[in-house]
Amino acid sequence: MRTLDTKTIVVASHNAGKIREIRDLIGPLGFTAQSAADLDFIEPDETGTTFEENATIKALASAQASGLPALSDDSGICIDALDGAPGVYTANWAETFDGSRDFDMAMAKVEKALADKGATEPVQRTARFVSVLCLAFPDGHTELFRGEVEGHIVWPPRGTQGFGYDPIFQPLGYDATFGEMSAEEKHGWKPGDAQALSHRARAFKLFAETCLGA
Ligand code: IMP
Repeated sequence: MRTLDTKTIVVASHNAGKIREIRDLIGPLGFTAQSAADLDFIEPDETGTTFEENATIKALASAQASGLPALSDDSGICIDALDGAPGVYTANWAETFDGSRDFDMAMAKVEKALADKGATEPVQRTARFVSVLCLAFPDGHTELFRGEVEGHIVWPPRGTQGFGYDPIFQPLGYDATFGEMSAEEKHGWKPGDAQALSHRARAFKLFAETCLGA
């Protein structure tokens, strides 16, 4: 495992929700992050078939373009009744004909797919959010960290916080959806805490403990 010896990294993402969450997580550890979006880097094609492959593609592209260590997140929601879909294609389910993203439409697509399967009860609607973080160095070295959080899909969507599919995901053991939680509640983690809640915070905790000595 290689540790990080700089206090500035690039967040290899163009997704405002993810960039905000990674900045929230990294800030308390004394790191600052520029994003691939701020630096006008081109978004590489996500041609992988696993979260690990896509996270690696994104982190390497930003590390090589910037000359700095880069941290990417490839994430998505895997729904058991849909055989793990949308999975690595979670962002694609939100794509509209003009190339923009519509998450109200994407959440409605999830609900329709579940209704078509007759999955109406919470036990039939189990799902997990997955986040794989990749830290890539300009010389091509990479480290991977995976976090997952179990829960179920609710309908109608609830809450206006967070981003993406947060309003339809209720984590196991909680009455609120991620869309109804503040950022602090959704992460459920700060440096030194034994546990984290969100998939991203769980992966980040592993990254911080391994590469930042947190
Ligand atoms: P990626 O950019 O290919 O990793 O796409 C990830 C997709 O999963 C995006 O559509 C996100 O909106 C969705 N997603 C990932 N993490 C979260 C989360 O924490 N909350 C809500 N949606 C998420």
